[in-house]
Amino acid sequence: MSARIRLETMAARAVGHVSRAAGRGGGTTLPGKLLWKVDPRAVDQLAARLPLGVALVSATNGKTTTTAMAARILAQEHRLTWNRAGANLLSGIASALVSSDGSELGLFEVDEAALPEAIARTRPRVVSLGNLFRDQLDRYGELELVAERWREAVRALPDETTLVVNADDPVLADLAEGRQSVLRYGLDDPRHARPALQHAADSKYCVRCGTPYEYAAAYVGHLGAYRCPSCGNARPDLDVVARDIELTGLRSSRFTLATPSGEVRVELALPGLYNVYNAAAATSSSLALGSSLDVIRAGLEGFSAAFGRFERIAQGAKTIVILLIKNPAGANEALRTLETGVPPVLVIALNDAIADGQDVSWIWDVDFEPVLPHAGRIVASGGRAAELALRLLYGGLPEERLEVVPGLEQALDRALELTEAGGELVILPTYTAMLALRGILTARGVVPAYWDTPR
Ligand SMILES: [Zn+2]
Repeated sequence: MSARIRLETMAARAVGHVSRAAGRGGGTTLPGKLLWKVDPRAVDQLAARLPLGVALVSATNGKTTTTAMAARILAQEHRLTWNRAGANLLSGIASALVSSDGSELGLFEVDEAALPEAIARTRPRVVSLGNLFRDQLDRYGELELVAERWREAVRALPDETTLVVNADDPVLADLAEGRQSVLRYGLDDPRHARPALQHAADSKYCVRCGTPYEYAAAYVGHLGAYRCPSCGNARPDLDVVARDIELTGLRSSRFTLATPSGEVRVELALPGLYNVYNAAAATSSSLALGSSLDVIRAGLEGFSAAFGRFERIAQGAKTIVILLIKNPAGANEALRTLETGVPPVLVIALNDAIADGQDVSWIWDVDFEPVLPHAGRIVASGGRAAELALRLLYGGLPEERLEVVPGLEQALDRALELTEAGGELVILPTYTAMLALRGILTARGVVPAYWDTPR
């Protein structure tokens, strides 16, 4: 390492220390931001000194959870550096690298738009691509742009880099076509398939000829076993398959992972098919990095969710369950985990900050309808509680079962009051509402600040 980089790293660390002490968000991005500003090439050099190299993880949905799962697996055998707080731009990766002294392996969650540059700078051994969904309606058109930029970045990867793709996503399967070193993963359990594609589905037209795909099974949005009736483009054979899936409501899931190294039965303390996808992604990356199936199973079974995406919090005799909803596909999956048992009290919190999507009309693409007839009471909250309430009434929720409480703290207290002792309160927040909620619970001493959360 050059003297200049050493100096910059020291400076960045000092700023991180100050930032943490000042309570400005755990200092998770500031040191990297500084280093990134002073000398972007420092990222290349810091990444290059990791003897076991770098693995990158990107996706629209689930990248934080997938990365945290893979970290849990890989940290059993390797000294690992990873961007654990979801700081997933180049500056966040720089921050993780700044404190990577003595690490062997780097594991980084990467924002979809930042992936090409992250690939160019860190020269990864493994690149994992999970899915591409439209985030919110005001970002319409970005999906095609991101897919095109990913395609170019993948084309530039050297042969020895292993590409891990979710082959249930037609766009990603197509990206991997013709590459030497690929691991394709997906689901195979038609019992859990949707009868028809939900209207929020994103890539339902053939990537080759534009004809609508026919699905033998659609699992989450447009992810599934597809085939084009016109040109024959279809889901390729899978290398890592999750099958015999058992979902137990909001608590857990069990499934068998069939891999080139054999089969293993996994019990995961997370609900929903989308977390089975996350586990299959983490498994594939770990296999590519040399982990055994025993190590992978131990890591997955010891995993507890990345903060906020899915979380159970004890609050006296009541339990708060938080499921992040950040776009139509993610919201549909969260709601789908509720269909097996709709909780008596539900809070939905809709904000419209930039991170949530400022155009909230995406809520009209969310399938609230199956849940509404069974909900005892729904508290609509957040900055756009009124639009949300309108959406729910339009979806058939009787007015007497709806309460509109825009203030998040007041909504939380009202919902806790409505929840019986021993009962479960489910909260579905958008991203900034989730952060605010987390802040309220931290201030009350119910949960620790997230950068202190043990894993
Ligand atoms: Zn076709």
